[in-house]
Formats: sequence, structure tokens, C-alpha cells
Amino acid sequence: MTLPLQARIEERTFHFKQPAGTSRGVYRTRKSWFITLTDKEGRQGTGECAPLPNLSCDDVPDYAEILFRHCHTLTRTGEIPFDELRPYPSMLFGLETAMLHLKSGGLQFYNTPWSRGEEGIPINGLVWMGTKEEMQERLIEKIEAGFSCIKLKIGVDLHGELELLEYVRCRFGHDEVQLRVDANGAFSTGEAGEILRLLQSYDLHSIEQPIRAGQWKDMARLCRISSLPIALDEELIGINELQEKERLLDEIKPSYLVLKPSLHGGMQGTREWVELARQRGIGSWVTSALESNVGLHAIAHLTTRLYGDHIEMAQGLGTGLLYTDNIDMPLCIKGQKLWHL
Ligand SMILES: [Mg+2]
Repeated sequence: MTLPLQARIEERTFHFKQPAGTSRGVYRTRKSWFITLTDKEGRQGTGECAPLPNLSCDDVPDYAEILFRHCHTLTRTGEIPFDELRPYPSMLFGLETAMLHLKSGGLQFYNTPWSRGEEGIPINGLVWMGTKEEMQERLIEKIEAGFSCIKLKIGVDLHGELELLEYVRCRFGHDEVQLRVDANGAFSTGEAGEILRLLQSYDLHSIEQPIRAGQWKDMARLCRISSLPIALDEELIGINELQEKERLLDEIKPSYLVLKPSLHGGMQGTREWVELARQRGIGSWVTSALESNVGLHAIAHLTTRLYGDHIEMAQGLGTGLLYTDNIDMPLCIKGQKLWHL
């Protein structure tokens, strides 16, 4: 009996052009697993499974074996085992991408204005952590490159960061430059209220994850008292079951969700988050999580699926230029938009 699908798994390491400072330390290289599926007609599809070390809920020591097992189920049945993959969002995302690629027969996963190259997806300009001078320089570079939404990582040197916000706001009003900050859980529950109050004077769009994940009561309190809208990111990691997701949103009541398919449930789980958020009047946007261009390309397709053809909210899809050895995909950033060529 021939199986409906064949699968090949290949491990690859990518190298950052510049070391990337994140909430979990500095990354210099990045490992991903690529799944290539082949069907009986010889059509192929490739997807990227890209867990983030020390951050993904599925960053497990026996990752390759578990991935192999689920791939085996897929090749035997021809179906993605969605329920079994709930605890493994990066694997699910890779398999979903591979299936979508295979079924669409090319790199246009869906036929949309974006995939036809008629429209771009607005993205934010990301300013990585660094010294105040470095951050100021990078920020001006982004604004000059045409970005009207800038995301800044904060929480290392609050004093310097407030000065930086002051510097931007003296030159650009909130109607010219939308500022989003991401604290990656840097503030303690004791100080966070006061810091949010300080940040309010800079007309910010939102703050991501002011305190560490897993402190729902404190996060709920901050969401209640803060007039600066709060977005959840790390908080969503490991919350993979539908009822848990509902419970989190109903208890914390955030203003926004920042959704990363590799971390937050693959495509299916991200779709679930967007739907549950919508029902509760909570906004969301999608962000890549240091995937190579293969993952980024799939996330961009998903984004147009989630938010429709004319997206206005800036998405976090500007990570394509990070690696010296990235994979070529028909993606390009022009001004502040990501285009499909
Ligand atoms: Mg974040």
C-alpha cells in the first residue's frame, strides 16, 4: 500500500547578521526543522517548524522524535492531527504550512490582493535593544525609511527609554508616528502601575507584556487601571486549549493580543485566538517569531486570511532581513509594507 504522503525532515541553522537581543538572551544562530511533504502525484509542500529556545512551550529535548511521530501520522492518514498537536504549536505551524503549500501547488497559498502583489501588508519598524544612542539612531532610520508605526523594546534602562520616547514625541505627534513598546515582562508587579502611568504621557499605542507571564490577577488589575492599552504576548504561550483561552481573556481583559503562530497555536490556534478576541472586543495583530522566510511567508498569508484584504493595523512582519543565510522567498519590504512578488 502506498501512503497518501511522504515526509522528509531536515534540520537547518540560520545565522543572524547581528546578534539579536531578546527577552531570553542574545541569539546568534537559530535552528529550524523543515518538513517537505510529497503526495502521490509528486506535488510537494514545505513548512518550517521553528520553536524558540527557552520560550516556546514545545522547546522540548525530544523535539525531533515528537515531530517525526506526528509527521508519520500525517503521512499515514493524509490529515494533520490537530488535537494531538495542540501542545506543539511550532510543529503544527510547520505541518500546516507544508500542507497549504502542497495543496495550493505554488507559493500563492490563497488568491488574494496581497498574494497577487496588488497590495502590501503594513508592518511596524522594530527597534532592537541597545544603548540609548544606538536606539535613537535606529529609530530615526526607521522613521526616515517610511515607517509610521515603531515598536521599541523597553525595560532595560527605563530612564534612558523615557528620554528616547520624549525625543520622538518632541519631533513627531501620535498621528505621524504610532509608538508601541514591548517590555517582555521586565517590570515587577509592584512598580508596573507607576511605570504605566509614566508612559501614558507619551501617547503610546500600547505596551506589550508589562509584567512577566503567569500573574493573571496582577495583569488583570493593570488592564483595569491603566489608560495605556495593554497587549499580551508571552502570556499566551502554553495556553493551547480553547477553554483555557476563554478563561484567560475573560479574567485579564487585555486590549490587544500579539499573535505568533509558531508560539501561539499554529495557524489553527491563532485563528481561534483572533476569533475569541473579536467576540470580546479585543484587538490583535500578528508577529513573526524569528522564523526564516519560509515561516514568514506563511505567516503573511495567514495574516491576510485573518484580517482581510485591506489591513490597516501594522503587523510585526519585518523580520525577513535578519539572517545572512535566509531562504529566498518572493517577499519584499517597500516603505512600511511587506509585499508578495
Ligand atoms: Mg512581545
